[in-house]
Amino acid sequence: MKKYNFNAGPSMLPREVIENTAKQILDFNGSGLSLMEISHRAKDFQPVVDEAEALIKELLDVPEGYSVIFLGGGASLQFTQVPANFLIKKAAYLNTGTWANKAEKEAKLYGEVVEVASSKDANYTFIPKDFSVPADADYLHITTNNTIYGTEIRKDLEVSVPLIADMSSDIMSRPVDVSKYDCIYAGAQKNMSMAGVTVVILKNDKLGKAPRELPTMMNYCTHVEKGSMFNTPPVVPIYSLLETMRWVKAQGGVEAMDKLAKQRAEIVYGEIDRNKLFKGTVAEEDRSLMNICFVMNEEYAELEKPFFEFATERGMVGVKGHRSVGGFRASCYNAQTIEGCNALVQAMQDFEKKY
Ligand SMILES: *Cc1c(COP(=O)(O)O)cnc(C)c1O
Repeated sequence: MKKYNFNAGPSMLPREVIENTAKQILDFNGSGLSLMEISHRAKDFQPVVDEAEALIKELLDVPEGYSVIFLGGGASLQFTQVPANFLIKKAAYLNTGTWANKAEKEAKLYGEVVEVASSKDANYTFIPKDFSVPADADYLHITTNNTIYGTEIRKDLEVSVPLIADMSSDIMSRPVDVSKYDCIYAGAQKNMSMAGVTVVILKNDKLGKAPRELPTMMNYCTHVEKGSMFNTPPVVPIYSLLETMRWVKAQGGVEAMDKLAKQRAEIVYGEIDRNKLFKGTVAEEDRSLMNICFVMNEEYAELEKPFFEFATERGMVGVKGHRSVGGFRASCYNAQTIEGCNALVQAMQDFEKKY
């Protein structure tokens, strides 16, 4: 049976990305060696890193004066590495979810942290809007898409200090004005690649200013100066990231991804709002286009498990909501198809007919 992958992360990738990466794993560029067994310093691998970096810059329209690097450690290491490198005196954090909260916690290890607003008391069901950022903050940290709760800041905020953003789960799904950011980071396993590589975009003239000794591996300058080759980078994840970037470009770039995201969201949220069995979980204006969360309406609460089983029988994978929200979450990253969304909607409609 055809499977529709709604996993929140690691998540669905375009079929051709997986196939092309598989081919290179068997025989890298006709060398007779696997991508898994070549040196990261092999002459054939440098072009992979160079093209991946160039495509990220092209697709996100990254201005001059920025570097793109590939690191290990996931987005979670960035929760620490960001303040270690950028927090000089005071940092501002917007608390919009579990990941945002974790980032804020790590920053406290390095200096004063001001939480400008939080929706934690409302189980993160909305994005706080009326908040002020201290003018002397080194940066405002935001999480553009809250993967667990299904809320999203889908525009570049207007604030008086530089932005730093965790874009792990919506990078490459819309155009971004990178010039507003000192740093953008993203674990690749939601929208760019398999797990194992983290993309970090850095404003060069803000580097090397931290008033503290940094371990060599924690210092962004180390990796910028060595072009992500200070130590062995995650070779296969970087290759599959390159294939995904080629795919995004071939589809028409981030504008096309944005358009598709809106189409998918319209299909799935449209059905959630129409269907008597279900309801959304977050404020409508903050609904994520990437992670669509919904639960059963109160009077049908006992149908949660039966619907999960019904959807699973129809080939839906990964639609269970995160344990802190319950219900369902349909993750619709770049690779998610309209067909997949229609299949989910069909399952919701057929299930409704039974009641
Ligand atoms: C998944 C996720 C993370 C954690 O990423 P790791 O690479 O597992 O550390 C952080 N932030 C957001 C927004 C995420 O979706």
